[in-house]
Amino acid sequence: MSLVPISIADLRGATAEPLDDLRAAKMRGAGLFLVHSRQLSATSERGALEGDFLLEWDETLDATTLDPSLWRFLVGPGQFPAFARWARNRLGNIEALLQLAPDEESDLTCCVVPHLEAIPGVKPVLAPVAPDAPQLLAAARRLLPLTPYPLSLLPLTGSYDPDAMTLVFSSLMESGRVHSFLVPSPDPRHSAAAATSLLNALELRRFGVNYVSCPTCGRCEIPLEEIVAQVRQQTSDISTPLNVAIMGCVVNGPGESKHADIGIAGGRSGGVLIKNGQVVGKLEKHEFVDALVREIRQMARDRGEPISG
Ligand code: SF4
Repeated sequence: MSLVPISIADLRGATAEPLDDLRAAKMRGAGLFLVHSRQLSATSERGALEGDFLLEWDETLDATTLDPSLWRFLVGPGQFPAFARWARNRLGNIEALLQLAPDEESDLTCCVVPHLEAIPGVKPVLAPVAPDAPQLLAAARRLLPLTPYPLSLLPLTGSYDPDAMTLVFSSLMESGRVHSFLVPSPDPRHSAAAATSLLNALELRRFGVNYVSCPTCGRCEIPLEEIVAQVRQQTSDISTPLNVAIMGCVVNGPGESKHADIGIAGGRSGGVLIKNGQVVGKLEKHEFVDALVREIRQMARDRGEPISG
């Protein structure tokens, strides 16, 4: 088993307009959204459910009305028997993220796993519960040899330390069994962005524009850092994976940006625009930023992203 992890945005705290938060989190790379069952009907009625949801398990939930594509549940510690009874009566692919507290780990192989394996169509994912990053890593390492199931990393308790969690994620990636992770934050847009940037940093996911600028040398004739900063700032809303090269001279720049989707090679008296490795036009010096932003936005639009400007 080898998984490409997904990031989860926690929408349970979304208050003002959950759908806006949902769309914003999606644009920032979230692949799964954690919602309360009570948020479900409002979201569903407005046509926003697209099979990407993780519902917090609630025994009062009338799950018979759910679309089968939505049968993903976060099941809290102590809820396994109720969940298993419910799941036994239903067929289909149900993905259950089972939160597992340390005092329940010993029950895993004797009770939980046989019970779950007796239910057709249920795909368990184990989510260890721990108050901090070192204990989360320790719990995940205890669970890995006990079962073949993937792990979801939901540090829902205690304080969140991004550096310590990066270490946890990177330590567990080699196992190939990390299913998903959630960065806790009161703002789901922030948690989605932070989780996705972690995936990008670990080179597990491509999301948004990747800028490559030349290291500069004596040939560089343009204010490279300033141009990169301006273009980056004006394209921060784009989620389409694109490689953009910004090179500091027209002598070697075109060759060095041949693997980019879009690029410029600039010089003191002007530069060239490069698309898919080919020089496609000349640019005046004052046009560098605007031309790059325009081309990046157009390419993202051509690849299906609904963006303005
Ligand atoms: S692209 Fe030009 S300025 Fe940049 S490092 Fe290469 S030779 Fe130097």
